[in-house]
Amino acid sequence: MARYTEAVCRLCRRENQKLFLKGDRCYSAKCPVVKRGTAPGQHAKSRRKTSEYGLQLREKQKARRTYGLLEKQFHSYFTKATNMKGAAGENMLQLLERRLDNVVYRLGFGDSRAQARQIVNHGHITVNGKKVNIPSFIVKAGDVIAIAENSTSIEKFKAMREGTSKTIPAWLELNSQELSGKVVELPKREDIDLSIEEHLIVELYSR
Ligand code: SF4
Repeated sequence: MARYTEAVCRLCRRENQKLFLKGDRCYSAKCPVVKRGTAPGQHAKSRRKTSEYGLQLREKQKARRTYGLLEKQFHSYFTKATNMKGAAGENMLQLLERRLDNVVYRLGFGDSRAQARQIVNHGHITVNGKKVNIPSFIVKAGDVIAIAENSTSIEKFKAMREGTSKTIPAWLELNSQELSGKVVELPKREDIDLSIEEHLIVELYSR
């Protein structure tokens, strides 16, 4: 699958916000958003006031980059969301949160969404006892996501049995002993701790 391969910290600096793309480094003083605090590029400080379109575009880029998706993939979530009952923006965020790679990240099996995606791709994850290696797989309420039996001896996962300091969102339940997690309910907007104004994305795509 095609993906963004440049230095990911530039993406956060462009949005002037932490997008948490690099795991532990994002929580350290080494994070360039904390250290430098300006957008990348020579003329970053002299950029003009952002237009309405510009604001909408930045909000979409922020969400798309947070979940590590290409434009076409990201837009497909908007299309799906508009065909669901309720507010399109919220529906879209809920679908993105329900992606298997995001759930693996939220449960703490991966330090970042990129790492979580690799864990899924490499066949380390089961859903309801069956191996699933598709990062875009959408989980539903009641699903049990676990580390595959033959992957539980991997050091990273073994260490998780001791517990994790990561805050698990209310819609998920982690059983660190079992190296598994359950989708207790579908995520509501207040469960998604992202400072994204999804209505701006809806406005952008509705132009
Ligand atoms: Fe973004 Fe993390 Fe890099 Fe900070 S360290 S700029 S939060 S990817």
